[in-house]
Amino acid sequence: MEIYLDANATTPVLPQARAAALAVMAEAFGNPSSIHGAGLKARALLDGVRATARRVLQAPSGQLLFTSGATEGIQTAVLSALNALRERRAAGEAIPALLLYGATEHKAVPEALRHWNALLGLSLEVRAIPVGPYGRHDLAWLRAHAPQAGLVCTMAANNETGVISDLDGIAAALAGSSALWLVDGVQALGKLPLRLLERGIDYAPFSGHKLYAPKGVGLLYVREGAPFTPLMAGGGQEGSLRSGTENMAGIAALGAVLSALEQGGVFAPAAELQARRERLAQALRAAFPGLVLNAPLELSLPTTLNFSVPGFSARQLLDLFDAAGLRLSGGSACGAARAQPSDVLQAMGLPAWQTAAAVRLSFGAADDAALIDAACSRLAACAQALQACGELPGAATPGRLPALTRFVVDGACCYVLADPDSRRCVVVDPLPELTPRLLTWLRAHQARLLAVLDTHSHGDHASSAAELRQALPAELLQPADTLGWPQSLQALELGASWLTRLPLPGHTEDSTAYLLHGPQGLRLACVGDTVLPGALGRSDFAQSAPAAYGTSLRTLLQAVGPHTLLLPGHDYEHRLACTLAVERAAQPLLDGVLSGQLDDAGFARAKAQLEQHLGPTEYQTLACGARVDCAQGSEPVELVAAALQPGGLLVDVREPYEQRLGTAPAPAGVPMRALPWSELAAELPDWLAELPRQTPLYFICRSGNRSALAARALRRLGFGQAWSVAGGLALWPAREPR
Ligand code: PLP
Repeated sequence: MEIYLDANATTPVLPQARAAALAVMAEAFGNPSSIHGAGLKARALLDGVRATARRVLQAPSGQLLFTSGATEGIQTAVLSALNALRERRAAGEAIPALLLYGATEHKAVPEALRHWNALLGLSLEVRAIPVGPYGRHDLAWLRAHAPQAGLVCTMAANNETGVISDLDGIAAALAGSSALWLVDGVQALGKLPLRLLERGIDYAPFSGHKLYAPKGVGLLYVREGAPFTPLMAGGGQEGSLRSGTENMAGIAALGAVLSALEQGGVFAPAAELQARRERLAQALRAAFPGLVLNAPLELSLPTTLNFSVPGFSARQLLDLFDAAGLRLSGGSACGAARAQPSDVLQAMGLPAWQTAAAVRLSFGAADDAALIDAACSRLAACAQALQACGELPGAATPGRLPALTRFVVDGACCYVLADPDSRRCVVVDPLPELTPRLLTWLRAHQARLLAVLDTHSHGDHASSAAELRQALPAELLQPADTLGWPQSLQALELGASWLTRLPLPGHTEDSTAYLLHGPQGLRLACVGDTVLPGALGRSDFAQSAPAAYGTSLRTLLQAVGPHTLLLPGHDYEHRLACTLAVERAAQPLLDGVLSGQLDDAGFARAKAQLEQHLGPTEYQTLACGARVDCAQGSEPVELVAAALQPGGLLVDVREPYEQRLGTAPAPAGVPMRALPWSELAAELPDWLAELPRQTPLYFICRSGNRSALAARALRRLGFGQAWSVAGGLALWPAREPR
């Protein structure tokens, strides 16, 4: 059963709201503008809901318009305020120069300000009001700038953090200013008394779907005497302030919610909500040691918790929670598709890791108390799954140690190569950001560390090899050279496999590849930055050896051949791995030097030219090479579950901790395998050697994201029938699709 904890994005529809909407559609479908009986009934309902809304919002005077939602309300308010400024200027009056909005405001507000400012030709300066570390407006700043402001927009409570604004403080800061004041009341509706009239708020938009009404209905309060310009002109509905036939089903549903608010009994009181949140906070702290809250609870809505867990990205946690049937989000729903740090937390000045890892848990005031207890149990189950997979300390027994695991930080890759039986392992290219996670992981797997290797002395980051070596038992570790290779050994034995090294000066003088051999021959090579998917490592560092690069590439070809799997030191486009054959087809320079068309000097010259103006990567890290093939394949890789054909292989690429929390039912005739994205490369040597390239490979994950990456990566490696199941497990049929 799904436990929905994303109420700040939207809420389910309250049963009485559903019933009210259905009754309107079934029986009272009249148009409130009609003057016959059906119309009069609709009009009475409309007026009744408006009256209830006035009481609930404590807005006895002014206009209260029904809208399609808060975004429309915001547009109308901004248009009204800005059009009034335009008219004043047209009449020859000097108008204030600033339009201000809180730095943590919902995107709809600054976007509306910019849009109408440009469209009305005002060209005023749109500026963010800074917020402090707790997300509250800097009132001193506001006081200083209020005299120059024409419009000030400040939300009542934040959708990501739940932080409640100091509206009295803002009102005081605006005293004496002619600025109009918009308060986005979306997240406060039903949770906080807004005292609209008393505080002198000019505009306040609200949205039904944040409080158990359906999507597509909202309210806009406009203070009596505040300037108004209709956004929509037409049939003259809503006293000509908002034309268009009213959304009667939505309005009836909103009316039912407002009545429930007024009468009590449906929504839990604030003290009870606080107690529920405290239970959730305790469950979270117990599950994730080190968890930090991104906003103080005492300043936040009692239904919102925003937190980060050191060592875990927001995506990782959301995948984990989703597998446990817990629906949380990484911030605002509007930004959920973009894997970017939260603007809100950035504006609060929180450390980068916290803003990138933030998760929002928000529940509804009408939720059942038992739901919160069930959520707490599932959070504990999530932590157990992480422990069992070595991602958190505390596993009772060591988990399965995969033969190959890949860890990625901002496009940089680290690999653990292991023998699952003897637990002997080698870490290649450890990254400082990964040290705590790797240590936990290696200890939980009772891994016996043979060596910590670097493929080169890194220009862009420090290696954390020394920290790992120090922290782990030295049972198998031996004195090593600067890249970590044990001085006395020709090969490192990993059970039936063994590792050798191949010097490849170029990217740096000490660049080295590590070749993994098995009983059947060479399996793969960790090549660092010498060959990357779509690029060659740059060779313009002081420690580079550009003149030797060409020879090194030919040496690599000789040693591994065209089709051996190469694991790169960076993988910005999620290509997972490459081969020399694939890269020759994508990179003319590489093909030139390997085919002999370019000699070493010509290659070095052409390469230097390519690297002349290398900018930083999308992660703002130093680029490790000039990317010549960075476009994602544009061919569609998605198909629906019903299109799976017998004879193919269905691969679940979710991580082991997700798989522990729930598996998908396999469809008839298509064998299914769990092969996490972080372990997928382990399978590729066998697939490259044995699998016909036209074998249908169907990848599935939680939402279709990772499976699409896997499908594209496999297509690039020559598997033309690699597909991603669209929508992932979220849309996967509960039973087999056919
Ligand atoms: N303002 C805030 C604070 C919100 O949380 C939202 C919705 O996420 C909006 C405005 C936009 O509301 P609507 O979806 O009704 O357009």
